[in-house]
Amino acid sequence: MITLESLGILESNPTPFYFYDTNLLDKTLAKVIESSRRYGYDVHYAIKANANRKILTRIASYGLGADCVSGNEIELALKCGFKPEKIVFAGVGKTDSEIEFALDERIFCFHCESVQELEVINQLALRKSVVARVALRLNPDVKAGTHRHITTGMIENKFGLSIEEVYEVKELLSKLKNIDLIGLHFHIGSQILDLEVFRTLSQKANQLKEELFSNSRFSYINMGGGLGIDYANPNNHPIPDFDGYFTAFYEHLNLEPNQKVHFELGRAIVAQCGSLITKVTFVKGPSSRKFAVVDAGMNDLMRPALYDASHSIINLSSKGSISTYDIVGPVCESADCFAKEIKLPKVERGDILAILSCGAYGEVMSSRYNMREIPYAVYSEDKLEPVYLSKELNT
Ligand SMILES: *Cc1c(COP(=O)(O)O)cnc(C)c1O
Repeated sequence: MITLESLGILESNPTPFYFYDTNLLDKTLAKVIESSRRYGYDVHYAIKANANRKILTRIASYGLGADCVSGNEIELALKCGFKPEKIVFAGVGKTDSEIEFALDERIFCFHCESVQELEVINQLALRKSVVARVALRLNPDVKAGTHRHITTGMIENKFGLSIEEVYEVKELLSKLKNIDLIGLHFHIGSQILDLEVFRTLSQKANQLKEELFSNSRFSYINMGGGLGIDYANPNNHPIPDFDGYFTAFYEHLNLEPNQKVHFELGRAIVAQCGSLITKVTFVKGPSSRKFAVVDAGMNDLMRPALYDASHSIINLSSKGSISTYDIVGPVCESADCFAKEIKLPKVERGDILAILSCGAYGEVMSSRYNMREIPYAVYSEDKLEPVYLSKELNT
């Protein structure tokens, strides 16, 4: 539980800032490793969820692989200690220079999302006289039951290859001498809490493997990430149900001998360890609608504006009587709102609020909109010296 004391000296840590509970991150990493090892599964961390160097270095030190969606993510992953042979590269729009960089760094595998991409990887690999390991990302047309902006495995989504395109790939494959097709990749969306969805995905994967690749001897199956977290009650569920998640695949995914299953989890690993700490600038509005204006904005945490996401918010300074507030930021957009009509102990100018469960898709999505500062980060293990993200990026 976060307290004012745990934040260190607020005079030297001006708000807003991200606060990371590194102890919870350690516990989460230990648990994800324990749960996945039980079935011999390999886990990659999806860098896009949080690319803070200190967090990345921590995760790499546990031996996890990395799942990258840009050349810069690959570069950062390598700098932070992820091993090239544990890096996979996904994304619908890999540029030639990103592909060349990944080939030069000898990453483990490209997750290929189109026929054209496969041809380009082949060409570029040929030019370098190397063979690229590739897995095909299939669009399994499975509903993730999550927000439409984080659903990726339906036919109307841009991700992955349709069955029609897979037939095209199969025709081409014998000509693509610099491609080593090692497996298949699936990822259907994010913030999925209903484990039934992962059972359905496993069954759909079985069916597609059987239908399309009955003669192939794939060594690699990647089932993606997507495990959700409890945004409503983070203190009751600080660590997601990794056992339930991996067991859903273990019980329903059919494997051939020597097939290795990988996952790429982002949110489930980092979301609960991060909070956005912000100070109340003003309390305003008619008695029927009180707004607490805070010094963090949608540029610091975009999830509420982008996905209608709701985060649990606590008032660390007040034990006053409960009232109802909208928590809004200073940015000139109506979408700059963190919560509507929530109950909090009496909020006053100068109070410190914590927006919880912000470790994933928080700091990493920050921007300088309205010429605001990029938020910095403070870590529970060393509260004294704030590390400025913008400074890190310049070095
Ligand atoms: C975003 C993404 C992930 C991670 O998703 P989480 O919901 O954060 O676990 C994994 N794989 C791919 C291909 C992604 O795009």
